[in-house]
Amino acid sequence: MIEKIQFNRPFVTGRELDYIAEAERNNKLSGDGSFTKRCHDWLTRKSGSEKALLTHSCTAALEMSALLLDIEPGDEIIMPSYTFVSTANAFVLRGGVPVFVDIREDTLNLDERLIESAITERTRAIVPVHYAGVACEMDTIMEIARRHGLRVVEDAAQGMMATYKGRALGSIGDLAAYSFHETKNVISGEGGALLVNDPALVLRAEIIREKGTDRSRFFRGEVDKYTWQEVGSSFLPSELIAAFLWAQLEEAERITSERMAIWQRYHTLLEPLEARGPLRRPIVPNECQHNAHMYYVLLDRTIDRQHVLDELKRSDIFSVFHYVPLHSSPAGQRYGRVQGELEVTVTQSERLVRLPLWVGLTPGQQDRIAKTLTDTVS
Ligand SMILES: *Cc1c(COP(=O)(O)O)cnc(C)c1O
Repeated sequence: MIEKIQFNRPFVTGRELDYIAEAERNNKLSGDGSFTKRCHDWLTRKSGSEKALLTHSCTAALEMSALLLDIEPGDEIIMPSYTFVSTANAFVLRGGVPVFVDIREDTLNLDERLIESAITERTRAIVPVHYAGVACEMDTIMEIARRHGLRVVEDAAQGMMATYKGRALGSIGDLAAYSFHETKNVISGEGGALLVNDPALVLRAEIIREKGTDRSRFFRGEVDKYTWQEVGSSFLPSELIAAFLWAQLEEAERITSERMAIWQRYHTLLEPLEARGPLRRPIVPNECQHNAHMYYVLLDRTIDRQHVLDELKRSDIFSVFHYVPLHSSPAGQRYGRVQGELEVTVTQSERLVRLPLWVGLTPGQQDRIAKTLTDTVS
């Protein structure tokens, strides 16, 4: 019997439960205890960001961003259609209108050359998504934003431990969101963080995260009581989640380097196949250091993707595709606007196959995946 190869297997370091037990012994289970503080310090040190705040998801961090930027009904937010729903949802919740712009052929990231043609008087922000942990062309995007007085929110859900020209993803825009969902590199089941890079937004970010109160300032002794300051919600995770996450952050370097080795091995194994034409491998621009979040291939247009996925599954290899472009989804059509043809979005999203990538995937398993893929598309 051949062994089944799962698409994803959440990695645990082994210390998660010890730290959760420690949080319990500390009698501190709600948020913003010592584990949360350790995570905050690690994230700001590692990213160089002004402030990091744990949230219960990347979705929550994006929703906080929309609140922080005072997004109002009718405001337009430029983003790719080729992304996860949360990128758009966060702004639609405030009445904002996602304006979908096409992606680049090479990185599948927002095409910076098309951003300016999408800007109108209602445009408020640009949301670059660092797909597969490969950075968007941030210098150009930041320059466009400054020239037009727009904010930039990095959806860095997949981007922790990756850099652009040596700068951490998440530290470049005014705001940024990380995800620690179990499908990401560093995990806490569900989890995320908001990175605040504009110092002027720090205090309000704390308030919005704590149900709209200045409780954080109260705990620091800066005010003598805490009160309702503005619209907010409960965006912070419990200490139990922060304790789990701390065990992962301690090992973030090792997790990244093990994933990089697996990524590189796929890249080498599939080189001959790319040379023969049935697929192309990921392209990483020189100025981007990625984090091996994902290994995908783009099948030639003549190859039936569902057939490839079925054949892999018949060999007990579980692969997936994503995303159904937001502009073609029911809610995307209802709430969004499309700029241009989105030709690259449509064609690339129909060709993409993600291969299993998790810490513990063996060279033997990778050989089997590459061989099955080769046999299927040849
Ligand atoms: C995973 C992901 C999210 C959502 O992250 P959660 O932590 O599950 O809320 C948002 N955007 C992108 C691009 C993602 O990959």
